[in-house]
Amino acid sequence: MTSSDGIKTRPRYLELPDTFFSHVRPTPLRGDVRLVHFNGELAREMGLSVNTPEDWTDIGAGRALLEGMNPVAMKYTGHQFGMYNPDLGDGRGLLLWETEGPDGRIRDWHLKGAGQTPYSRFGDGRAVLRSTIREYLCGEAMHHLGIPSTRGLLLVSATEPVRRETLETAAALVRVADTHIRFGHFEYAAHHLGPEAVRTLADHTIRHHFPGLAALPETERYPAFFTEVVRRTARTIAQWQGVGFCHGVMNSDNMSIIGDTFDYGPYAFLDEFDARYICNHTDQGGRYAYNRQPEIGFINCQFLAHALTSLLDEDDLRRGMREYETTYNDTFINLMRRKLGLTEPDGNDMSLIMDTYSMLHEHGIDYTRFFRGLSTLPSQGPGPVRDLFVDRAVADAWLERYRSRIESETTSPEEREAAMRQVNPKYILRNYLAQNVIDAAQAGDDAPLAELLEVLRHPYDEQPQFEHYAALPPDWGRRMDISCSS
Ligand code: AMP
Ligand code: MG
Repeated sequence: MTSSDGIKTRPRYLELPDTFFSHVRPTPLRGDVRLVHFNGELAREMGLSVNTPEDWTDIGAGRALLEGMNPVAMKYTGHQFGMYNPDLGDGRGLLLWETEGPDGRIRDWHLKGAGQTPYSRFGDGRAVLRSTIREYLCGEAMHHLGIPSTRGLLLVSATEPVRRETLETAAALVRVADTHIRFGHFEYAAHHLGPEAVRTLADHTIRHHFPGLAALPETERYPAFFTEVVRRTARTIAQWQGVGFCHGVMNSDNMSIIGDTFDYGPYAFLDEFDARYICNHTDQGGRYAYNRQPEIGFINCQFLAHALTSLLDEDDLRRGMREYETTYNDTFINLMRRKLGLTEPDGNDMSLIMDTYSMLHEHGIDYTRFFRGLSTLPSQGPGPVRDLFVDRAVADAWLERYRSRIESETTSPEEREAAMRQVNPKYILRNYLAQNVIDAAQAGDDAPLAELLEVLRHPYDEQPQFEHYAALPPDWGRRMDISCSS
């Protein structure tokens, strides 16, 4: 493929002053390269030709650029595990270009694993097959669960060796998002460039990504922008909590300004419920444990607030921050009510939710199976829920309390079941499922990845032919130690 035939390019990020990026060409992957997956569904949405996906292999491998691609590494900084790091930026990824789809939606394309950049520090600029598959899978899983996320468009694998804890092989991923601007971009502007740059970046972000706010007078525009970022962040994290997702590396450079779930590393979906679950094995203090995510989201918004002090006065920032708790709580309780099939709010719902969590924690109950089992109570009876408990009496006592709570509901059991099936997934991306497809792909077989992606496209549906993907993890797949090296 030599021309960008028919693809509409819409450069936005390059409108920013060049202090926000460096021009870098991809370093071609060495050795044999193969296309591991091409996301036909997403490509179609983006108006790309899906007839000859192999044509994209050279783009993914950094061996070719389309006419109109003008790759840059973005500069940003951020707080990592609470410590400010001024030396961040795209150390192995490049913004290739931005394109507009048939629906008018503009997306930017990030080639992850594209080689070294001025921000690579000691890194080799590469990504390994294992971690790119994990990122690719999770972007799709989240998207189809209805949780905002970046998505993978294509993934290539090369025989080029890469040293991590062991010797692995290089791969690269084209990831798309409405924007790759992070909280860390604002921290960079504020702490290294100055108030003018913060304003320029804020105006740019509002114009392109929050266009509804652009016409507001300045005194309202920036507070509305900050408040909206805070709300989106709180909403996304409430959705993570609801589905049992642990991000693992919630540094402020991994926080998307538009509230996407971003930069997948050692993430996990909970199997047996453990409120204090830590999925990142280097996070010994548990800073990013499952039950700390809501608070960490708040702290990251504070870092953002700090970066915006030249634009907003303190009262506006404080008012914006207050939205976090309100939005988080509203989103979370509404979601949990829906997961429990409760349509008529009751003052005791929060204590029911909290007691349910305590029980799941104490008895180590599989989170996904529990809520799915609850969804199918009308058609399948209590078996699927009771069977999760060693101590059936605990299940029975809880089910009794639940039964008396839903007596005050006016929806029919059938309606309730249909609604609960739409919010309690049957299929989630358990770590062992990801590991199985990684093992296969490392041995040259990409079919299991394609099949798992297919399953994850319909997480709320019964898919009888794929029933085994809903199984509990085997012993080797429980509490897997996921390295953060990627
Ligand atoms: P992450 O933990 O993946 O969010 O990355 C944190 C920072 O380290 C970002 O600036 C990345 O671009 C950079 N980085 C991570 N891995 C590498 C690598 N292998 N080579 C160069 N930079 C990297
Ligand atoms: Mg990152």
